[in-house]
Amino acid sequence: MSNLKLAIQKSGRLHQESLSLLKDCGITIDNGKDQLKINVPNFPLEILYLRNSDIPQYVYDGTVDIAIIGSNTIEEKAKELRIVENLGFAKCRLSLAVPKNEQVQDLSYFQNKKIATSYPNTLKSFLEKNHIKAEIHTISGSVEIAPNIGLADGICDLVSSGSTLFKNGLVETSIVLESEAVLASTVKLSIQKQEILDKLLFRIRALLRARKQKYILMNVPNDKIPDITKILPVLKSPTIMPLAQEGWSSLHSVIEENKFWRVIDDLKEAGAEGILIIPINKMVL
Ligand code: AMP
Repeated sequence: MSNLKLAIQKSGRLHQESLSLLKDCGITIDNGKDQLKINVPNFPLEILYLRNSDIPQYVYDGTVDIAIIGSNTIEEKAKELRIVENLGFAKCRLSLAVPKNEQVQDLSYFQNKKIATSYPNTLKSFLEKNHIKAEIHTISGSVEIAPNIGLADGICDLVSSGSTLFKNGLVETSIVLESEAVLASTVKLSIQKQEILDKLLFRIRALLRARKQKYILMNVPNDKIPDITKILPVLKSPTIMPLAQEGWSSLHSVIEENKFWRVIDDLKEAGAEGILIIPINKMVL
């Protein structure tokens, strides 16, 4: 049976996190120096390190079967691929930005202006949809410098924290596109390869689920168990185990990390003590 061919970014922002995701799925990757193709010894997978901007084309024409790629790159290359899973990392947005002293009320500001970007296709269709005629100046990097050197009035670039914009005296005015790393597949996958992909997906989903959830345990007075159970937005009913100390129990459950911060004060007020939050490695439902 032939292996599933997976493309990941050769270098750049997505490279390391893509490798970590695969390794956390139990996939052994022996990185030979400068190797561009790796056969995985413990899973029917072949990994190819490719240039980010080439990846959508390779997946589209079936040279590789699947890829880990930013959804913005798929959009820019306008290739019809199947998005199999959102991977929850490399979250960013493609945004329009202008020098901070400019007064921008709405998109009409960009009418007849010059915009520098590395994402001309995505920007072009956004501007067309919004009936804005602007000159798009395509550059391959350091886009944020363009207004300062008089190359453009504004830019359209990827933003995550906003610190690069800030450092260059720019402010974000509108979001063109939201993006994150995704697992994308060619539309014409054979049945055998789909079976391998399903096995890989099973592992990835167990991992992604676990990344969002935390194991929580705390000591509670027995008479407070019903109150505390009501406060906890948990998956299932908690496990209750008696402590050696009379009248107290240990309460265990699983909680979404972002929900935990909302209820911590209520838990303490209701009498919970010694609250521990522990990472979960994998989660199979
Ligand atoms: P690069 O490392 O510049 O080749 O970027 C590769 C991909 O990483 C982009 O296509 C985006 O999907 C993602 N990316 C780029 N910039 C950012 C950012 N500031 N924050 C998060 N992800 C980003």
